[in-house]
Amino acid sequence: MTYDTATTLLKSDNATNHEVFRGRMYIDGKWTESASEQRFERRSPAHGHVVSTFPEATAADVELAIAAADAAFRHGRWPKLKGAERARVLLAIADGIKARVEKMSLIESLETGKPLAQARGEVSGCVDLWQYAASLARTTSGDAYDTLGEDMLGIVLRQPVGVVGLITPWNFPLWILSQKLPFALAAGCTCVVKPSELTSSTTVMLMEILEEAGVPAGVVNVVTGKGPSVGQPLAEHDAIDMLSFTGSTRVGSLLGGLASKKLKKVALELGGKNPQIVFPDCDWDAMIDAVVFGVYFNAGECCNSGSRVLVHESIAERFAQAVVERARQVPVGDPLHPDCKIGAIVSEHQLSEIVGNIEKGVAAGARLRLGGKRYDAQGLYLEPTIISDVTPDMSIAREEIFGPVLAIIPFSDATQAIEIANDTAYGLSAAVWSRDIDTCLTVARGIDAGTVWVNTFLDGYPELPFGGFKSSGVGRELGKQAVEDYTETKTIQLHIGERRNWWLPRPAA
Ligand code: NAD
Repeated sequence: MTYDTATTLLKSDNATNHEVFRGRMYIDGKWTESASEQRFERRSPAHGHVVSTFPEATAADVELAIAAADAAFRHGRWPKLKGAERARVLLAIADGIKARVEKMSLIESLETGKPLAQARGEVSGCVDLWQYAASLARTTSGDAYDTLGEDMLGIVLRQPVGVVGLITPWNFPLWILSQKLPFALAAGCTCVVKPSELTSSTTVMLMEILEEAGVPAGVVNVVTGKGPSVGQPLAEHDAIDMLSFTGSTRVGSLLGGLASKKLKKVALELGGKNPQIVFPDCDWDAMIDAVVFGVYFNAGECCNSGSRVLVHESIAERFAQAVVERARQVPVGDPLHPDCKIGAIVSEHQLSEIVGNIEKGVAAGARLRLGGKRYDAQGLYLEPTIISDVTPDMSIAREEIFGPVLAIIPFSDATQAIEIANDTAYGLSAAVWSRDIDTCLTVARGIDAGTVWVNTFLDGYPELPFGGFKSSGVGRELGKQAVEDYTETKTIQLHIGERRNWWLPRPAA
């Protein structure tokens, strides 16, 4: 280790003793290899050893998975089950996840590079998502209108939309799948899932749990492999009724366009460049902690990363010094170390992109206050980075970097802060820090974002909808509408009593 401004953690002895996970695809209730018999491997970004291998799906495999989901939807029993029965299955899946928290967390940590302790929190949190979806499976319903006159009763049914293609990214593999799959299942849909090729293990492990919980064959199918060959058919295939995608804005807009062209329902959860806005009257210690947490959680590889801090100009220098001081103390290094807070970056490609973005910011005139370089040749690590004197026009202030890099931008008043906050293509989340309720509400109402935290950051609850404005996405996940998003409404109009004729032919003379 050469990095000396943060607490660095030594590599755990047991990191490379892990048994390689040999994943298989799950199609029509059967565990399968690819038609091509090709496999790909995933190495730990922190340790370099092979963690898992998976079949490289071919177009024929994807076709089989879609056909299985289609048949299970058109002819199977899942869409017709009582809500209570689907809820029982979802609760059994929640129990299955709970029983495997250790196994799933370890492999998520090894594949993503995230701290093991954090992975445990995420996998355990998924249990709650499945339980919440189970509650909605019993309570989501249509509507009835008894207000249309004596001769009419209106009934609005909610029916499952059909076959859903689910595509997920690498940063929160099981969590993001659990924001989608249980809700689609609660609605009565059938699914084809494509996990990121970097982090497919827990998606495959989840299928073992679904099988044990009694999910019928064909209801959920998993295909593993690269995006263009395996993911794209899930946006375009005629038998797919809805696409639910989480990932980058670039790929999301490509796939959303393809799916919309075929008039499919589309839900997109995409990138962010999320501002935390700091006023001088805030609770200073709480704010500094939340800024450091907000940008370094998951090594900044988080759609909600608080990657921009807008600070009132009167406290900008004091803020920069305090945040640098705190960031220096954050433990960085082996994700398996119990003290680790910042682990490895997911891939060499991602690491070079982050470093390139830092260099671009510095070349544009911003001031590097901490970090900025990779360290430890044995793993993919980046020094926690802080850049001040950033202006809103710089790319470092506007583009999603997806790494542990904080950009500090000064502002003069609340109006200007809102203007700067809204001056990017994104609108996922934001935070405001002040003890003045008027300031908090004015800023919260003025910002274009799907979530605004006030005097806190990154909290989340299944009850609260999540999603983005502008290029951060289309639609919302979670919340009480989460299951409705996987349904279509059908209106039934029931006439009561004798119907008045439109026209009565005259009796023949
Ligand atoms: P990505 O867009 O590269 O990949 C996401 C998924 O799409 C992966 O499964 C990938 O294999 C697949 N894919 C890639 N190219 C494809 C193509 N041409 N056709 C079909 N599928 C394709 O994103 P990523 O690098 O895995 O994840 C990081 C991005 O995800 C960031 O931009 C982040 O902000 C975003 N994200 C958003 C949220 C949210 O809820 N808003 C949550 C997590 C991540």
